[in-house]
Amino acid sequence: MNKERIKDSMDQELPEDPEGEYLSDEQWSAIINNDSSYDDQFFYAVRTTGIFCRPSCKSKAPMKSNVRIFQNAEQALSAHFRPCKRCKPTGERLPDREWVEQIEMYIDNNYAETITLEHLADICHGSPYHLQRTFKRVTGITPVEYVQQKRIEQAKQNLIYTDQSVSEISLNVGMANVPYFITLFKKKTGYTPKEYRYQHQIHHSTEVQKL
Ligand SMILES: [Zn+2]
Repeated sequence: MNKERIKDSMDQELPEDPEGEYLSDEQWSAIINNDSSYDDQFFYAVRTTGIFCRPSCKSKAPMKSNVRIFQNAEQALSAHFRPCKRCKPTGERLPDREWVEQIEMYIDNNYAETITLEHLADICHGSPYHLQRTFKRVTGITPVEYVQQKRIEQAKQNLIYTDQSVSEISLNVGMANVPYFITLFKKKTGYTPKEYRYQHQIHHSTEVQKL
């Protein structure tokens, strides 16, 4: 982080936080410099991710206003923060399955946004390589395949139950490249989005008629 950005974040006002300890300039500097000499002196949690870390953690620097300080890991855990996978602030490894569930949950809630492996690794606190390997070992598919699967599933729902055009659906499930969406859809389902909609809408309306 360069001087200008450090200065910018220093200038931000901290909101009142009656539950959290006051974040000192010294602690903030330890966090952004990954200073291991402060490890075990305090821990920091990030409100937006729900994860807490040691000061030395190499994960992306948080926004200063989202940081909460804890004297020990127990306090952070009882405030419902989860230990970071990368710096292991409780000294134990988070079980891989639990970590993968966190990653899946993030994808389930954000598949409509741009999701890269690097972005996932930042959010879920792990190296991209380690995240990819662990995810594949636990689920049998890569994180990218999981994202695609989620998007195609949602697109199927939108094709059957909405009047949105194929390009609208493509955008709404996080795929700005419409031709690529159509290719991927056909690869995963055997049909183009239009064919899929035609078949399932007919099917759907006969079902409705039967009722
Ligand atoms: Zn960490």
